Amino acid sequence: MTTKPDTSEAARAVAAEDPERTGNAHRRVELSEAEWRRRLSEEEYQVARRHGTERAFTGRYWNHKAKGRYLCVCCGTPLFASATKYDSGSGWPSYWQPIDPANLTLRTDTSWGMVRTEALCAVCDAHLGHVFEDGPPPTGLRYCINSLSLRFEPE
Ligand SMILES: [Zn+2]
Repeated sequence: MTTKPDTSEAARAVAAEDPERTGNAHRRVELSEAEWRRRLSEEEYQVARRHGTERAFTGRYWNHKAKGRYLCVCCGTPLFASATKYDSGSGWPSYWQPIDPANLTLRTDTSWGMVRTEALCAVCDAHLGHVFEDGPPPTGLRYCINSLSLRFEPE
């Protein structure tokens, strides 16, 4: 019964490490709550893993103008580029376009008596923020993202 070698675990690990083979959207990072708590600061954990929201005008990136990329704080997936960041006046980092839509999962969020579109990291399900339809051209979209869900990588 046990003569067949169990290669499925190794095959999955290889696939997860090779975005060329599977497409980045199929890469998955799944950790226990304890492991996320260990890796993140308390503030990052509350926002990215517990769907919190940082207070406006308090985050590390709302007024950050350096050139580079903003990665998922949890798993490092590239989410937004500085070239698409703009000053929305909201007090949160705002972008009119993601680096790759496949890296985001969008879903309807009906919490707090509002109907909003929630944006999550497609790889690890980190809560990022929300998407609104009051952004600038060419997309008309505003990706309103918590600084605590992002990690900046300079160009
Ligand atoms: Zn992620």
